Parts: sequence; structure tokens; C-alpha cells
Amino acid sequence: MAREKYKGGRSHAETVDRKGLGRLRRSAEKPVGRESNWEGRHEDDTFVESHGHRERPSHTGERLIARFNRLAGLGAAQSAPGVAGEISGTEGNGLLVRTSAGEFPASVRRSLTKRIGGVRNPLAVGDRVHVLPPGDDPDSPSTSGVVTAVEPRRNQLERVDSHNRSLVHVIAANLDLLLVTAAVATPEPRAGLIDRYLLLAAWCGIPAVLVLTKCDLVPAASVTELAAIWRTVVPVHTLALVGDDPGLVALRTFLQGKSCVICGQSGVGKSTLVNALFPGTGARIGGVADAGHGRHTTVSARSYLLPGDGRLIDTPGVRECGVAGLTPVDVALHYPDLARHQPHCRFADCTHRHEPDCAVLAARDRGEIAASRYASYLSIVDEDLETR
Ligand code: ZN
Repeated sequence: MAREKYKGGRSHAETVDRKGLGRLRRSAEKPVGRESNWEGRHEDDTFVESHGHRERPSHTGERLIARFNRLAGLGAAQSAPGVAGEISGTEGNGLLVRTSAGEFPASVRRSLTKRIGGVRNPLAVGDRVHVLPPGDDPDSPSTSGVVTAVEPRRNQLERVDSHNRSLVHVIAANLDLLLVTAAVATPEPRAGLIDRYLLLAAWCGIPAVLVLTKCDLVPAASVTELAAIWRTVVPVHTLALVGDDPGLVALRTFLQGKSCVICGQSGVGKSTLVNALFPGTGARIGGVADAGHGRHTTVSARSYLLPGDGRLIDTPGVRECGVAGLTPVDVALHYPDLARHQPHCRFADCTHRHEPDCAVLAARDRGEIAASRYASYLSIVDEDLETR
């Protein structure tokens, strides 16, 4: 049962091309399908159909991870010399590797660099590797180990370069969770930023949770109201961080054994939260310098071992989460509260802005979609995708 395609008004392809994103789209793998979709032609209905069934579309990051895994697989990690380890820190071209024997700086064996060199930021925090510990390789300095092989990734958190949208930076690999932190007051929570983090997580296929802190600063009813905005989308933990908050125990249990990236606007008390959860760890969180944050350098990142074999990854890279490579349909499909109404829109390629018989707009008017969630969707589609 094919739905109509939207033909009224100015087509979105036209809007996007005017602003220059068309260039990016033409360089993507299936540009014709996407553009013809917006223009209502029929030679490539695959895109519409896959979106009609709400399957996750493939994107640059998925192609990148597939390519990485193909190249990494050639290395046959099982037979590579060295011991098992993981990348626990990156800064510029420097790497830190953690093994059962401890943590040390390491370089990457030339043959491995050559093989995976076509991928930007070939190794990221969280990558599982084989490494020769310092002193084991006669060709390298005795203070540094040598990475000989890397295992395929199961996922990666990535961002699109803000200056060159055809570049994807890998922030971290092999993750179980994106931990989004926000304070309910001082500073006021920025709903748009929270939604961008959640979109990034959904786009990368990584589960997310929202932790609202400083809940003792506002009336309980306000906390409930704020949490309700996101409860239909992700698990929400509300914490006061004063006294003996039972919420801490629940969150600590939840994080047990997980590898997670922590993110949130500055001033939300990330280190206080981490200290409360895992005494002794929080002091170091937020200490990753911004030095690697510039245009031409690799973003630094650091992972910390948590009790119970979890990992907490701190990186400034996630602050610049770029969603520039997405189309409005991609964005809507990764907003679960919007996506669940999308099948009832009259047009399969509805962007939920001005199209007639839009089920999302109707749901928003009935109060079934939080006003702030719809507002952040609009702001991403109208500003992030078109003017950045
Ligand atoms: Zn719609």
C-alpha cells in the first residue's frame, strides 16, 4: 500500500540545494534515490519503502564501520602477536593501551596503519587490539608498546566534521551506552542540546539514558514535568546528589559492566555525579584537555575503568555532535516520539512541517508530542541541516 509523495509547495530538495547541502547529498552513495524521492519521481522507491517501514537507513557512518571492519578483519587478530588490550586514551596521534598488565603508550605497527589508513582516526577509545607490551618489539622504544592488530567494531559514536561535512570523526568505539547528563537548574537544562545528544545516539545505534541532576533545587512537580518530556523516549534517572539518594544505587547498578560515554553541557556537575556514583573516579572526569579540540587535530578521549568492569569515557569530542549529514526524514525517524506517528502521515516522505494531513503535527496539537521535542526537531531540520 504505497502512500503518496509530497508534491506541494517548494520541494525540500530545492531548499536544501539552495543552501549547499545538495553538494553533500550528491557525493553520498545513493544520491539519486534521495533526490528523486523528494522530487516525486519513481525510479527509486527503495528509499521511500524502507522509510515507510521505518527501517534504519544506512548512512556514512555505517559505511565507515563496515569498511573499518573489512580492513580490520584482514588482520586476523587471533593470529597477531602480542596480548589482548583496548585503547584507553587518544590525543593527537598518541595512543594509550590498557592490558591486564597495566596501561602504557603505544604506537601502531606500520603495516596495520597502512591497512586501515584509509579510515580517518583509524583507532578510537574502546577499540579492542592486540599489542606488544613495551620492550617486546626490538624496533620500537622500550617505553612504548606496539599495536599489531585491531578487532572489528560492533558500533561507534561519531560526529560529522563541522567544517567538512564529508568527514566523519570517530569519538569512541564498542559502546553500550551514551549517558546524557543535564541539571534541572543552575544551569537551566537546554532541551535542544539533550535532544541532539539523543539523536546522535539513536543515529549511531547506541542506547542512551538521561540523568537529571540537582533535582533538590526545584519542586518535585517540576522535576516530574521535566522528566516526562523524555520518559517516552529514553530511561530517565532523577538525582539530587545530596544525602543518601536511592537513585544513585539504581544508576550504579544500571551502569554495571557497561562501556559508556558521558556527555552534557558544562556546569551540569559531571564530575560530582561520577564521584557520587564511583568515589575516586570523578575527580579525573572533565580533566581531558580541550587542546585536541581544534579543527586540524584529533579529539582527545580517555576511558576510566569502573568497579564491576564498566568503562566511563570522557571526551570533549561529543560536545560538537554534528548531525549535518542527515535528511529531515532521517531526523524524524530517530525521534521515536515523532516516528511512531509517521506511518499515519499522508505522505511517506513527510517532514512534519507544513505538509497536509500530517499525523505528527496532529499529535503535537493533541499534546501527545512534547512541545519542546517538536521545537528541537524543527530547529535541527531548519538550522543544523541547512545552515551549518
Ligand atoms: Zn508528517
